[in-house]
Amino acid sequence: MSRGTIADVAIVGGGIIGCLNAYELSKAGHSVTVVEADALASEASGTSGGWQTPYAYTVDPAMLALAPRTLQLHRELAQVLPEETGIDHGFEETPYLRCALTEERAEELRKWQSDRAREGVDTSWIQPQDMPQVSTWVTADTAAALLSNVEPTLDSYRLTLSAIQAAEKYGAEYTAGQVVGLLSSDVNGRSPRGGY
Ligand SMILES: Cc1cc2nc3c(=O)[nH]c(=O)nc-3n(C[C@H](O)[C@H](O)[C@H](O)COP(=O)(O)OP(=O)(O)OC[C@H]3O[C@@H](n4cnc5c(N)ncnc54)[C@H](O)[C@@H]3O)c2cc1C
Repeated sequence: MSRGTIADVAIVGGGIIGCLNAYELSKAGHSVTVVEADALASEASGTSGGWQTPYAYTVDPAMLALAPRTLQLHRELAQVLPEETGIDHGFEETPYLRCALTEERAEELRKWQSDRAREGVDTSWIQPQDMPQVSTWVTADTAAALLSNVEPTLDSYRLTLSAIQAAEKYGAEYTAGQVVGLLSSDVNGRSPRGGY
């Protein structure tokens, strides 16, 4: 960032989080600068598998409550961003298959399915004899298999590029540079940790 640049918001990192925030904030009328040390989407956002699985890895009620909103947001982005930028980020509502290999895991899966059903999540059980037709990776001795229709895929690299281009249309700026000295420890003296 050049000396003297003034923005309402400085975003450190041009991954999907930084670029989508830049898009939403600039669209809402804020001046935004994104600072990226390497290249846009050069880290996790450029290599992600692109599965949208908001129900997958959590039993936290607060996170589960966010799941339908996450899906709705992605459906809206899949409409709006390609119109704004001409970049198709490949959003597809493809089925997602969960398999249980033991009776214990099958029981967990049944509970998971019944909890999600109460929230209106659309899933269907695959019968053992139908499993090989659904996927060649699934064998008929699998204890239980459940197909979900609310866990789409997308190309996270293209989504990130699309988000920054759309943000730029609303006046956001992208600049190369490494931001230093922001945060080295929390109040207890621990270093910040992240991870996938
Ligand atoms: C192999 C793989 C598969 C994955 N599959 C999935 C999946 O299927 N579904 C899913 O939801 N998630 C998946 N993820 C996780 C997902 O990719 C990440 O959660 C997401 O991309 C994180 O986005 P981010 O913007 O926070 O971080 P990043 O994409 O890592 O972006 C951070 C950016 O900040 C920049 N930066 C860092 N420090 C500074 C600094 N000091 N100054 C300036 N710039 C800086 C970096 O260069 C980087 O470009 C996967 C991740 C990996 C690696």
